Amino acid sequence: MKDFDYIIIGGGCAGLSLAYELEINEKLKEKTLAIIEPRTEYKKDKTWSFWKIADHNFEDCVKKSWENFTVNTANKTNHLECVDYPYQSVDSGLFYEKINNKLKENKNISFFKNIDEINSRNSFVFNSVPLIKKNHHNLWQHFCGVEIETKNNFFDDEIFNLMDFDCDQRESVHFFYTLPYSKTSALVETTWLSKMNDSSKKDYDTQIKDYIENHLNLKNYRITYKEEGAIPLFYPSHEIIKNKINIGTAGGMTRLSTGYTFLNIQEHSKYICKNIENISETKKFEINKKYRFLDDIFLRVLEKHPEKMPDIFFKMFKSSPKTVIKFLSNKSNFLEDLSIIFKMPKITFIKALFY
Ligand SMILES: Cc1cc2nc3c(=O)[nH]c(=O)nc-3n(C[C@H](O)[C@H](O)[C@H](O)COP(=O)(O)OP(=O)(O)OC[C@H]3O[C@@H](n4cnc5c(N)ncnc54)[C@H](O)[C@@H]3O)c2cc1C
Repeated sequence: MKDFDYIIIGGGCAGLSLAYELEINEKLKEKTLAIIEPRTEYKKDKTWSFWKIADHNFEDCVKKSWENFTVNTANKTNHLECVDYPYQSVDSGLFYEKINNKLKENKNISFFKNIDEINSRNSFVFNSVPLIKKNHHNLWQHFCGVEIETKNNFFDDEIFNLMDFDCDQRESVHFFYTLPYSKTSALVETTWLSKMNDSSKKDYDTQIKDYIENHLNLKNYRITYKEEGAIPLFYPSHEIIKNKINIGTAGGMTRLSTGYTFLNIQEHSKYICKNIENISETKKFEINKKYRFLDDIFLRVLEKHPEKMPDIFFKMFKSSPKTVIKFLSNKSNFLEDLSIIFKMPKITFIKALFY
């Protein structure tokens, strides 16, 4: 069986981002890489959206960028600008194609369906397959989105709706999210923050149909694509093993209060690439501990008081959008953190420290 210098387990977002980063920085000229990926074909299966707070390698896979957005509850709407950090949507189909075309050029990179096909004993392993133990107390962000097309112009594609809380909450936290790609197409997503114990919240098709037809007041449309997923709002367990690093969701790259992961994965890939020659001795890359602490309190409040969350999210966006975006993207300074913290209901959050 063949030996490799590096093995990446899981050729999804994190695995391919890392392989691409290593390849374009010429770290695989004299080293070999095996990517273990069971899928038989790569096709669009997700849309990754985020505020562009840092440069990334996938500008040419961006489907659309926005500089304006709204957040609303049943009776209040906040219009916000994000000119400094535009919100971008990356098409996973274009991302997979771009990376796989690049990786094909290097004979030192091979794909396998199963790790048993190679000898992994002498390799450094980057693992992106999370170990998720069943626990009914864990929170998830679970969602379903559809891309729709209309015959006539319907959407304002200059502005997207980040969170629309004007919907059924069912003792949980629920909002709709609308990304208008053009005047005649948009992604409409129903998103829940819950423990996923109650499968009745998974009537996604009914929720989306009702929202499009009775809330957006759009009757004539066609569904062209559908995506469904669940992002763990907790850190997957991992054993510390010599010569192995977890990456992606498995490596704790999700910001727990928001589910945003894509840009953290890109930053992690750059970090690994920069330190690849000394990777066994390199310090573990982590989302700053202050965000872990703040997100932990935030999620405790969310669990205890789901009914307060629409208002809490709305208030958070009362800070300057630049500050909120930096905070949500792990790039805020102490003063910016304070300005967000002061917008929160203080007694509720202080009590949450003791739950
Ligand atoms: C539908 C969806 C939409 C999302 N949207 C956003 C977004 O808008 N913005 C954002 O920041 N984040 C988003 N996320 C969260 C996060 O960015 C993605 O989940 C991202 O794909 C995580 O990358 P990953 O490499 O950790 O996992 P994945 O991309 O899921 O990659 C894991 C890979 O491992 C493979 N695999 C599975 N089992 C094995 C095995 N036993 N051996 C080897 N390989 C295996 C899988 O086939 C897969 O290719 C979204 C998540 C989902 C599910």
